[in-house]
Amino acid sequence: MAVLKKIQVIALAALLAFCFACTAPFTDGSQPVGGSPSTEAESSLPESSVLPESSVLPESSVLPEESGSSLPADEKTGTGKLAVHFIDVDQGDSVFIELPDGQCMLIDCGERNYVGRVITLIDLLGYKKIDHIVVTHPHTDHMGGMALLLGVFDVGEIYMPDVTANTDAFLDLLGVIESKGLSINVAAAGVALATDYNGLSAEFVGPVNIYPNDLNNCSAVLKTVFGETSFLFTGDAESKEEADILVRYGDSLKCSVLKAGHHGSSTSSSAPFLKSVGAETAVISCGKDNKYGHPHAEALERFAAAGIKNVFRTDLSGTVNVLSDGKTYSVSVGTPELDYKWVLNISGMKIHRPECGGAVSTAEKNRACSARSIAELESFGFTRCGTCKPEE
Ligand SMILES: [Zn+2]
Ligand SMILES: [Zn+2]
Repeated sequence: MAVLKKIQVIALAALLAFCFACTAPFTDGSQPVGGSPSTEAESSLPESSVLPESSVLPESSVLPEESGSSLPADEKTGTGKLAVHFIDVDQGDSVFIELPDGQCMLIDCGERNYVGRVITLIDLLGYKKIDHIVVTHPHTDHMGGMALLLGVFDVGEIYMPDVTANTDAFLDLLGVIESKGLSINVAAAGVALATDYNGLSAEFVGPVNIYPNDLNNCSAVLKTVFGETSFLFTGDAESKEEADILVRYGDSLKCSVLKAGHHGSSTSSSAPFLKSVGAETAVISCGKDNKYGHPHAEALERFAAAGIKNVFRTDLSGTVNVLSDGKTYSVSVGTPELDYKWVLNISGMKIHRPECGGAVSTAEKNRACSARSIAELESFGFTRCGTCKPEE
């Protein structure tokens, strides 16, 4: 199929049942994102995000192509594509990025109560190691589950802005970082992540300034460019940090997809910032019926005024997935449906067979699904349930 110059936007007409509930194996007729028939190819952008029914599964999770790299055999093979998952973590932020060379990146992980969803997705997509972790700022809706998550994956490098918080979640995170022998890299404007894949770059454009009593405006803001497609991940940056970033970067902020700042709050997404960014697609991460009223009407109006054609919301659509081949990108909504072998209790650190009563009764906040081997899970401190006695 010829490469489309315009993006295709594919979304589910109806929300799929969450696989995160782990109640059923995932077998359906999902087809790769972006694989819609080419007859309608030369279309203009849909005005709305309600579209033909279709599918959810990012190609990168199922169709490994040639690797093009010299990774060790046990590392995940890259697909040459970039898959960005804006994970539905209720009121919070979490973005998991599959890089074209088989590496991956996690920006935030939401509140502790939803981190099982994040762990499940990363595990079932086949990653044992998270190569790059960004904690945008120390608010629990962004890093409340990070201490737990870091305990169940191998970790490459971790970036955080140079601010602290006096919360249990943040102190726990520092404790895990230390116990894993990791060091913290400071996320600040001008710092670039080490990516050696051709045509891929990831550089922080914020924070430019530090405001110790205003953590949102110290958010690590990352710009990721892959070929002709680009993404801006803004954390909870509000208009003050947006103004700082504008002064320093101006028109070089241009990108295709914007993760709206601070859950679509009116205090973010200022008109001058949106103008410089010039995005055609925005993703808002917020919880259904959240108490803050996010997203605010003023922000949505500014998106429209700035010419943003597509707005996706995790409160309405669940997880939002963007797949880029470096020339064009497509969007799908819904949790990728992936096979799993075990149900984990991430609080009690138990491995269950899915049908075990102990698995069924595990509360959602303590549940994750895994396709890893038992030996691998045991290496992270999980133990087998004595009742269902899981075995390979
Ligand atoms: Zn937040
Ligand atoms: Zn915040």
